Amino acid sequence: MSVATEMFGTMVFSDEVMKKRLPEETYLKLKRTMRGGHKLDPQVAGVVAEAMKEWAVEKGATHYTHWFQPMTGITAEKHEAFLRTNKEGGAILEFSGKELIQGESDASSFPSGGLRATFEARGYTAWDPNSYAFIKDGVLCIPTAFCSYGGEALDKKTPLLRSMEALNRQALRILRLFGHADVQTTCVNCGPEQEYFLIDAEILNQRRDLMYTGRTLFGAKPPKGQELEDHYYGVIKPRVAAFMKEVNEELWKLGITAKTEHNEVAPAQHELAPIYNVVNIAADHNQLTMEIMKKVAQKHGMVCLLHEKPFAGVNGSGKHNNWSLSTDTGVNLLEPGDTPAENAQFLLFLCAVIQAVDDYQEMLRISVASAGNDNRLGGNEAPPAIMSVFLGEELTDVLKAIDSDSPVNPKEKTLLRVGVHTLPRFPRDTTDRNRTSPFAFTGNKFEFRSPGAPMSVSGCNIVLNTAVAESLRQYADRLEAAQDFESELHQLIREVIQAHKRIIFNGNGYGAEWISEAENRGLSCLPTTADCIPRYVTPENVRLFETHKVFSEAEMRARSSIMAENYCKVLHIEAVTMLEMADRDILPAVSKFCGELQKRTERRGSRYERETLKELDQLLDEGYDARCNLARSLEMVNGGVDEAAAFLYRDSVLPAMRWLRAVADTMETKMPGSEWPFPTYGDMLFSVK
Ligand code: ADP
Ligand code: MG
Repeated sequence: MSVATEMFGTMVFSDEVMKKRLPEETYLKLKRTMRGGHKLDPQVAGVVAEAMKEWAVEKGATHYTHWFQPMTGITAEKHEAFLRTNKEGGAILEFSGKELIQGESDASSFPSGGLRATFEARGYTAWDPNSYAFIKDGVLCIPTAFCSYGGEALDKKTPLLRSMEALNRQALRILRLFGHADVQTTCVNCGPEQEYFLIDAEILNQRRDLMYTGRTLFGAKPPKGQELEDHYYGVIKPRVAAFMKEVNEELWKLGITAKTEHNEVAPAQHELAPIYNVVNIAADHNQLTMEIMKKVAQKHGMVCLLHEKPFAGVNGSGKHNNWSLSTDTGVNLLEPGDTPAENAQFLLFLCAVIQAVDDYQEMLRISVASAGNDNRLGGNEAPPAIMSVFLGEELTDVLKAIDSDSPVNPKEKTLLRVGVHTLPRFPRDTTDRNRTSPFAFTGNKFEFRSPGAPMSVSGCNIVLNTAVAESLRQYADRLEAAQDFESELHQLIREVIQAHKRIIFNGNGYGAEWISEAENRGLSCLPTTADCIPRYVTPENVRLFETHKVFSEAEMRARSSIMAENYCKVLHIEAVTMLEMADRDILPAVSKFCGELQKRTERRGSRYERETLKELDQLLDEGYDARCNLARSLEMVNGGVDEAAAFLYRDSVLPAMRWLRAVADTMETKMPGSEWPFPTYGDMLFSVK
């Protein structure tokens, strides 16, 4: 047995463990609940809880917690000891079925976006029996959904589960039309590739910007960045390798299939990818992965940065969301098949995704909006803020041929008809890779590249699942009513291609031409989070989410106001941190050095001293003006955290921050290294040997 298989899942109350430890009847009842989404019988819960506790205690656990994902996008836990006292005053260990199924917590400090007035501060957590319980740091963690007293979802898990159900409902209707009576359920798969930076912990402690905000707010470019691309897939340094080894082992114990690891393009940047899983499990696992990476880095004297753009001028970190839809009979519905019939079905699902991205471009863009990701999207290494779909040349040719009723290959005479009997074999070339597209078809799945590294994958998958469900709903309505399935299918696919081909773009998404081209095509462009906020709760979006019972309008309003609040608060912290660094470190250091130069030039002084003094003196004035300007712009916002405040941040605070940074970064290049108050980009990016 290898280390990986020996460790794998040892800390998970998995199916195998349940089978072994639960009476057969209880096990079967629990499985029925998991499959059917029924409420768990309290008696069954009691037996499961007892078995879980025994198992956990054997593994050294002393506490349990309902583990949930509030709208902050991170995870929350509140530990309770199993310990109780009995009548005789002795200690016993207890964990009841009630405690397993439902928890009640005073959760008034979690953002609710107005869904829960504080007098109704209680939030409820409810076990999601489809995610296995696990032990982390001596605590039995029970994955739960989190909702308000009135039943509104206060978390990211509940709507994700709802969106999976919505997509399943519609996909099954389509599969029935293609004659697949054997398929019971479909399943959304997700494989998130996680990018991150590792830097030395000592360095972090010397930079307040990294400490408070997770990114550098100042810093001149180092002489060597990522130009040589010598880091990508390069040899992994011993310290990093030790970190990766421990991360893998910790993840394996939790049943997380950490699979791929490599160095990324930027110095100090790396990536970890698991084997894909059902999307709600993948989301849980990704949250745990991020947590464990941070924890293990600390143990190794490093810090794991998950910010979307820790360093200006070098690549930021994303989380590529690989997405596909499959059946319980083991068929990937995005896999072009071997026969024309399979291909017609493939084409319909492909169309559903293309239409979903086109119809709900804004919602997809909004699902990855944050102050941090604004620094990354549209930069010259990350997908632009404009949504488009990359299909590759060959698939695009197939769609073009259907669109114009012409042969795919000019040498062939036959017209391409999408009937289930006539469509030819598809090319299966996945080598055609376009790194600049936000949404790329990669052979048998789509890869959404816009999510930022720290984001929960729930957000974008909720939108994606629901939008695809909506395309499929329209198709099913039409095809179910059709007299002649084949000709209706052909007509439908043609119409979808014609209506939505504008979203297909195989060119360079980084190019400036794309922005004007996209505008000509009528595609939406929301460059910043501030632009996204007013586009969240629109009538079309509300209709989408209400139709599929994923969000109520109130739940959407809550999320849009949390988005505004979060954007404003993050930028506020960044601006205040900049002021502090300018006032306490940068300006005094430059002023002091100017004083020394002054003394030297008074005596005699060289040209270097005279010229540098002149330059730095001017910069000092400009720097002071810039810091005052930033302080004034903050006063203008006056602590606001709503949509209006978000626009003030975008239009006055952010430009003020950029100005102050530009001046300070120029100062840095003129100052002696020994006089600069904190580690430079070079120190940070090459800190881990
Ligand atoms: P690359 O960097 O070339 O895109 P990686 O191997 O780093 O590839 O990551 C690909 C991710 O996609 C992995 O997490 C993998 O498990 C996942 N993946 C592969 N096939 C599917 C699929 N059918 N559905 C969803 N995710 C998938
Ligand atoms: Mg990838």
